[in-house]
Amino acid sequence: MGSDSRRMCEWNRKKLKKELPDYAESVKDPRYVCEKCIRVAHKKKNICEPLALEKK
Ligand SMILES: [Zn+2]
Repeated sequence: MGSDSRRMCEWNRKKLKKELPDYAESVKDPRYVCEKCIRVAHKKKNICEPLALEKK
């Protein structure tokens, strides 16, 4: 067990670099923004306080 490492909010620079392809995939079509950390992600589960972005 441990913390949910799928949450990009908790990723540090080292982790980001390692997971860059995944990260890039997840942010290229952002659907949610984290209200706490101001990160964006395609999947709700990737951030801790997801707020749905409005489709333009
Ligand atoms: Zn967050």
